[in-house]
Amino acid sequence: MGQNSSTPKPLVVIVGGGYGGLSLAKKLETQANVLLIDKKNYFFHNIAALRAAVNATFVPKIMIPYEFALQSGRFLQGTVTKITKDEVIVEGYSKGITFDYLVIATGTSYSFPSKNYSKNMKDVGSAYSQIQAKIKEAKSITLVGAGPVGIELAGEIGFAYREKQITVVSASDNIIPGPFSNELRDSVKQRIKETFPKVNLILGERVIVTDEMKETLQQTLYLVGNRTIETNKSNKIETDLVIFCTGSKMNSSAYEEDFKNSVNQDNHRLKCKSTLQVEGYENVFAIGDCADAGPTKAYEAQLQADVVANNIIQIDAKRLDKIKHWEISRYAGIVIPLGPEQGAGQLPLKSGKVVGAKVTSMIKGGDLFCSRNWKMFANRNPSNEVTESNYGIIKEEDLFQFIQSSKKQQVNQSNVEEEQKKDE
Ligand SMILES: Cc1cc2nc3c(=O)[nH]c(=O)nc-3n(C[C@H](O)[C@H](O)[C@H](O)COP(=O)(O)OP(=O)(O)OC[C@H]3O[C@@H](n4cnc5c(N)ncnc54)[C@H](O)[C@@H]3O)c2cc1C
Repeated sequence: MGQNSSTPKPLVVIVGGGYGGLSLAKKLETQANVLLIDKKNYFFHNIAALRAAVNATFVPKIMIPYEFALQSGRFLQGTVTKITKDEVIVEGYSKGITFDYLVIATGTSYSFPSKNYSKNMKDVGSAYSQIQAKIKEAKSITLVGAGPVGIELAGEIGFAYREKQITVVSASDNIIPGPFSNELRDSVKQRIKETFPKVNLILGERVIVTDEMKETLQQTLYLVGNRTIETNKSNKIETDLVIFCTGSKMNSSAYEEDFKNSVNQDNHRLKCKSTLQVEGYENVFAIGDCADAGPTKAYEAQLQADVVANNIIQIDAKRLDKIKHWEISRYAGIVIPLGPEQGAGQLPLKSGKVVGAKVTSMIKGGDLFCSRNWKMFANRNPSNEVTESNYGIIKEEDLFQFIQSSKKQQVNQSNVEEEQKKDE
């Protein structure tokens, strides 16, 4: 895996190959020496993951092997346990990975089936086959949480199985909390009522999670089997399957300690300048959910990747007048499909225009960006089968040889050594 040691390109290490990290790796791979690191060896397209819970044809579409995406960029499959200002520590390697520029793109975790944590694609396939079977068997399903995920999942299950009783319970008083209009919420509720009469919304009530439920959840991703769950307002719901859709968790453990002065302690995101450099660091950037720079959205993460790709190249070339600045969008937008044909959305415009089923289906609901993402990341149509490979497993000596030969600083160092040899 040698690199030309005379290359003037900098080594950019990107931690996290989600929407932000993979977009950046692809943008930079011809202009820099890129090392992308992720726990898994595939990009997980979680925007379409809820449909994969009811529709087996979507399972291969939600995983894009990094092998298909990167050309000259390198990929290392590994869990990053610690990120410092100088190095990235990856489980199983005896020393840290150094860099010229570091981009932190570790994103967020969400409970299954919204996101998943399997290191290989076959296991993801099995996990989705299992939940598909459990949803099919269950007569009555409870979804805890009425944010975009709980509501979308109700629509996906409702579309696939019109006869099933689906109860969505949420402690919040309305669906889809956040900076969105009540016109959007009312439109979504009206559509649920008309299209999926067996979906029941219980709002303003918190599900009591018993010790038994907590214990079971430590072993399984959702609760299977007939049980009665209770809310804090003594509402009793008989159910065969409980799926939690209660929000995301920042993947901050690797950077939290060494970057503590740059972490927003309220949300565990990294505070950034408008250049997306992490506050206090010139050569460390953050993008996506872990950057405290606007809404946690894939769309935002990809736009931030453009800004950082430009800024690394311009900073490295000392063309500081060409630096781009990230601006948080002024208007909130969201698209909520209720299955492939129904749904509503609020456009990110001053008017906050609310759109209905046709536009929702066209923009997102129909294919959930699978074709677009496969085209953009892998330049091909979505796959029909789950593949597997050892791509990204790198031996220690090969990895550090790559780091050594790719770092710009190292180029200077070898030049110095060569000069010294000449002198001798
Ligand atoms: C069901 C669902 C639907 C959504 N729909 C939309 C939508 O329609 N539009 C939209 O804009 N947004 C949507 N979102 C939000 C969107 O998914 C997130 O904003 C997006 O995933 C953020 O991208 P990211 O690159 O920051 O991080 P992520 O996509 O979370 O990727 C982070 C990557 O980092 C890796 N990683 C983390 N920690 C480590 C570590 N220590 N070592 C190695 N690797 C690590 C992970 O394996 C992962 O691959 C949705 C979210 C969910 C859950």
